[in-house]
Amino acid sequence: MYGLGADALNSDAVAKIFKAKNRPADNPLIVHVSCIEMLNMVAREVPPAAEDLMTSFWPGPLTIVLKRRSIVPDIVTCGLDTVAVRMPAHDTALALIKEAGVPIAAPSANLSGRPSPTRAEHVINDMEGRIDAVIQGEESRIGIESTVIDLTVKPPALLRPGGLGLEDIIEVIGEAEVSGDPLRSPGMRYTHYSPKTRLVLVEGRRECVLSGINRLLQKYREQGLKAGVLASKESAPYIECNAKYVLGSVNDLEEVASRLFLGLRFLDEADLDIGIAEGVFPEIREGRAIMNRLRKAAEETLWSG
Ligand code: AMP
Ligand code: MG
Repeated sequence: MYGLGADALNSDAVAKIFKAKNRPADNPLIVHVSCIEMLNMVAREVPPAAEDLMTSFWPGPLTIVLKRRSIVPDIVTCGLDTVAVRMPAHDTALALIKEAGVPIAAPSANLSGRPSPTRAEHVINDMEGRIDAVIQGEESRIGIESTVIDLTVKPPALLRPGGLGLEDIIEVIGEAEVSGDPLRSPGMRYTHYSPKTRLVLVEGRRECVLSGINRLLQKYREQGLKAGVLASKESAPYIECNAKYVLGSVNDLEEVASRLFLGLRFLDEADLDIGIAEGVFPEIREGRAIMNRLRKAAEETLWSG
């Protein structure tokens, strides 16, 4: 994922992130660190569960919410008394933070609400004229956002599913609950990740979803609409449509996660009237995040049972 960074301790710099992205002012940012000293600059308390998670999964796609120190400006946390912190696994990102010598607040480098950028060209498409520079790296390996876990509550709460599975977290700290409270994870209440193309998500058993999608395609054809489909590798050969994007196998969630945002951007690039996504990925490991992103990106969800 490409990020848009600013000195997390400088509120003027952070304000420019919100402006460039058109990001709602009540959606807090994740603070990125390159070492434990930097974590201690921004976090007031680091409980044993945090230590265990950091040892197991940092650097990597896990964001930990901790009690914050007052050095962190309000604009970063949107006035919350907590701060979300992560150490990224990307060499260039780590080198940049180290060189800056300060923690870096960074959301994804897209316009707010759009699919997240996994290639430099996506950043340029969304942000040209709004940012100073892009550091071009390779295509994202993981392709979805970090998992966010709040360790200031008991039991720890999963605020956002992401690149690291809840199962892996529970293995290390023993317990965690899925939080349904949007106030605790402000960013999760917005429509998000959406292509410009209207997206319909079809959920249910794969065989039923497949026939449901073919019926929808027939209907759209009759209405003279140009439709495209984001499909699993298993269903793709049976979907009667020219504009298909194969997300990957229902048995390879890692692959699907890495291709998900490319797929959402494909719908816009293919110049379609409507997109249909096959919502059949099991909600385990990365699948939990994949289904979360698809539901947030879609304007409408249909059940094909
Ligand atoms: P993004 O930068 O778009 O990937 O979003 C970061 C997300 O992290 C936000 O939308 C929130 O859901 C979550 N987050 C960041 N800071 C906090 C915090 N202090 N407390 C709870 N959630 C947070
Ligand atoms: Mg984002």
